[in-house]
Amino acid sequence: MNEFQESPERHALRREVAKLAGRYGREWFTEKARSGEKTTDLWLEIGKLGYLGINIPEEYGGGGGGIGDIAAVCEELAAQGCPLLLMVVSPAICGTIITRYGTEEQKQRWLPGIADGTGTMAFAITEPDAGTNSHNITTTARRDGDAWVLNGRKIYISGVDEAEHVLVVARTEDARTGKVKPVLFVVPTDAEGLEYRPIPMEIVSPELQFQVFIDDVRLPADALVGDEDGGLVQLFAGLNPERIMAASFSTGLARFALGKAATYARERTVFQGPIGTHQAIAHPLAQSKIEVELARLMTQKAAALYDAGDDMGAGEAANMAKYAAAEAACDAADRAVQTHGGNGITQEYGMAGLLVATRAGRIAPVSREMILNFVAMHSLGLPKSY
Ligand SMILES: Cc1cc2nc3c(=O)[nH]c(=O)nc-3n(C[C@H](O)[C@H](O)[C@H](O)COP(=O)(O)OP(=O)(O)OC[C@H]3O[C@@H](n4cnc5c(N)ncnc54)[C@H](O)[C@@H]3O)c2cc1C
Repeated sequence: MNEFQESPERHALRREVAKLAGRYGREWFTEKARSGEKTTDLWLEIGKLGYLGINIPEEYGGGGGGIGDIAAVCEELAAQGCPLLLMVVSPAICGTIITRYGTEEQKQRWLPGIADGTGTMAFAITEPDAGTNSHNITTTARRDGDAWVLNGRKIYISGVDEAEHVLVVARTEDARTGKVKPVLFVVPTDAEGLEYRPIPMEIVSPELQFQVFIDDVRLPADALVGDEDGGLVQLFAGLNPERIMAASFSTGLARFALGKAATYARERTVFQGPIGTHQAIAHPLAQSKIEVELARLMTQKAAALYDAGDDMGAGEAANMAKYAAAEAACDAADRAVQTHGGNGITQEYGMAGLLVATRAGRIAPVSREMILNFVAMHSLGLPKSY
């Protein structure tokens, strides 16, 4: 082992998760998506085996590992064709924020369910009018005696229908304008005044996105996670893990697409020899293999920096990893479809769905343009452009 390799334990974890997800497989996943069912069986199994909560501290039912571990789980599931988007949200974002900033009582209440999959938590920051510019969010929390009253609208919120709670990013009434000072609330998805409506999406996935309507939702004082004046730092605690997980989700999907393409290119023969003999097929796939491995390396670096407590270093690396992984995955999916010819867009081969799934990685959780803005400004010292 050396510094550029993951530990033997991490490799063993990857093998075990890949074996487990392989028993479910892509067909099972797409069948669930097309029939409107959920992937609860797999979710609960990875919960029971300790993979879902591997990054949650042991005293709250988790595995005591780091973001590198949960990112490995996320990648291996996707690499078997079973990407679970809610892993990005529930254990990685919500689990991390509550672990870092929750009270002892809050940790005991929410973390065990996040870890074993019985208490999934969604995450809601995006708003229709603010979009990428989170400083413009208008979801507002008003104090009413000891309680809080929440009002606002959220959009593209993943998995609200499968979650017991949603961690909502709001602003307090007395900080209504200007740079956002985010406050975070855990809201039960069955709270009075909270409604959600699915957004018809073109992604083939059992996990759906929702519009969320928050109208006078009354919350007890202890629904607030962290300090009311804690500022952006509390939110950012969850956003680096989010980017590292999103990158892993993308590299996993890319590996799945490339695996399918390579198999097909070895077997399909139309002129002399299999189509993989032709460099027009082989080179783009080889190029993607290189790009995916580079993205994986950056993702592992970001996770290692994060787990070592270097939040600043992890921030830059996580952004770069997420960018590289999304680009690599989009290209890999496109090349995999092309390799399959007409079969690339049949439901039987299930490749075309990967085009949209990987494409989402260029948009969410943070768009490629905003990452380029970040790198231009923070890594290259260029003037702020937004
Ligand atoms: C599948 C999926 C799941 C999601 N799940 C969640 C979730 O669980 N919770 C949640 O809170 N959100 C979620 N989102 C929302 C996601 O984070 C947003 O879609 C994303 O942040 C982009 O915001 P927007 O869609 O409003 O785009 P907009 O902000 O409207 O941007 C539109 C385009 O303009 C570009 N742009 C905007 N400003 C600039 C600028 N200054 N410079 C250059 N380019 C710019 C953007 O990069 C983008 O390409 C999800 C989205 C998707 C697609």
